[in-house]
Amino acid sequence: MTFRATILTLYPEMFPGPLGVSLSGDALARGLWSCETHNIREHGLGRHRAVDDTPAGGGPGMVIRCDVLANALDAAAPPDDPRPKLLMSPRGRPLRQDLVRDLAAGPGAVVVCGRFEGVDERVIEARGLTEVSIGDYVLSGGEIAAMVLLDACVRLIPGVMGKDASGTEESFEGGLLEYPHYTRPREWEGRSIPDILLSGNHAAIERWRREESLRVTRERRPDLLADRD
Ligand code: SAH
Repeated sequence: MTFRATILTLYPEMFPGPLGVSLSGDALARGLWSCETHNIREHGLGRHRAVDDTPAGGGPGMVIRCDVLANALDAAAPPDDPRPKLLMSPRGRPLRQDLVRDLAAGPGAVVVCGRFEGVDERVIEARGLTEVSIGDYVLSGGEIAAMVLLDACVRLIPGVMGKDASGTEESFEGGLLEYPHYTRPREWEGRSIPDILLSGNHAAIERWRREESLRVTRERRPDLLADRD
């Protein structure tokens, strides 16, 4: 089964963009996932294919029209499409590894990229869009946010990462940040690799990594430890 991403955007030329290289690009070329774009503008109104209008109640900026976006959604994904419909939005559910894991295990996603001030609330309700945020800051558009979400999902699709184990030990799996990594050379600018990692004692290495994970998490993200309890 492949993971199908369908992206609704005013800037389809941005895709696959960075997702077309390296791990996600190789996976795309191997057919492990697909990346299809739909230009919301094609459903725009009138000679100028208008997609936005001024906000009801006044205020700055423009809002993407509900009728235009609904038409684009209906053309891109039929009503019986089993994939979740997502809207990238700073008001959304924070994107965390558990959500990424759930999405990656499913059939894919229909992803709407907002622009301007955002989209008319009624299309969010009427088409059951789930709002997803990539962090507490405001981007100029949803495209880069969609790429972040898709990059995180694609690397978890079975067969995408060389060694399957490399997805299970890293940051956030198990609710902790990852332990520090080292590689050759053994000595560099007076700094050496911790002896234990060169000891060959796998149980001791395992214990050290666990303790380091806890230490780093306690120092940098105590909120993650609180979430685990
Ligand atoms: N006026 C809106 C921000 C609009 S930014 C507000 O205050 O909430 C324009 C578009 O960029 C949004 O519609 C959304 O699709 C995208 N975007 C901006 N910040 C984002 C974030 N943190 N996560 C996900 N999408 C974001």
